[in-house]
Amino acid sequence: MLKTVERSIKEKISDVFFPPSLTCCVCGEELFDEYEYYICPECFKLLTLNDSKICLRCGSKIEGEESYCGICGSDEVFYEYIRSAVVYDEFARILLHKFKFGNHREFGKCFAKLMERKFNLTDMEVDAVAYVPMTERSLKERRYNQSEIIACEFCILTGLPLFDGLKKIKDTSDQVGKGAADRMKNLKGVMKAQSGVENLSVLVIDDIKTTGATINECARALKKAGAAKVYGLTYASTVAKVRINK
Ligand SMILES: [Zn+2]
Ligand SMILES: [Zn+2]
Repeated sequence: MLKTVERSIKEKISDVFFPPSLTCCVCGEELFDEYEYYICPECFKLLTLNDSKICLRCGSKIEGEESYCGICGSDEVFYEYIRSAVVYDEFARILLHKFKFGNHREFGKCFAKLMERKFNLTDMEVDAVAYVPMTERSLKERRYNQSEIIACEFCILTGLPLFDGLKKIKDTSDQVGKGAADRMKNLKGVMKAQSGVENLSVLVIDDIKTTGATINECARALKKAGAAKVYGLTYASTVAKVRINK
């Protein structure tokens, strides 16, 4: 079930003669080799790297003395921790929208590179990479799963194998506007992991993390299939809300 993701030989050869992504994926400006994030220095400056104080569990940017955000700690958590490359501000939102709905798949490379940078700042020990799945039906409608594209690019960068046995077996109603507890309830039991992750430490890739409920549900399924540890890594993370009284 684990597979090595490699660019095809044909693609590799065309990379040499026609180097890909020599333009900024945001503004189209020509890039030079050293701009490894596939984004020009001017556009890069507009990103808010999620490197300041974060919730130690879910990785959301937080302020104040607390080590954890208002959402973490109140529910059953199946993952070790989540980290995100950038803060989900207006600029990060525009890029993600282009990637998800504009068929601009080149953003996958840019996001994966930013996430690899973040990953290297953590002490995650990972044996395999998984991604947040879509149901067959949504995949048909949307044509591609943005998280799968990012995960494949991430595997190419890191050399880690891909586990594509995590499945979403039920459609869920929209998570937008729902609180943390409702998101959890809405998602319970919708993910299923096939065999192949027994005793492995698995990193789940997603585009955006809001409450962490989606990655938590993936972690629940992966643990059920025998995974030893589950981590999460996303392109962007929303800023944590202040403590919520339940
Ligand atoms: Zn640019
Ligand atoms: Zn948190």
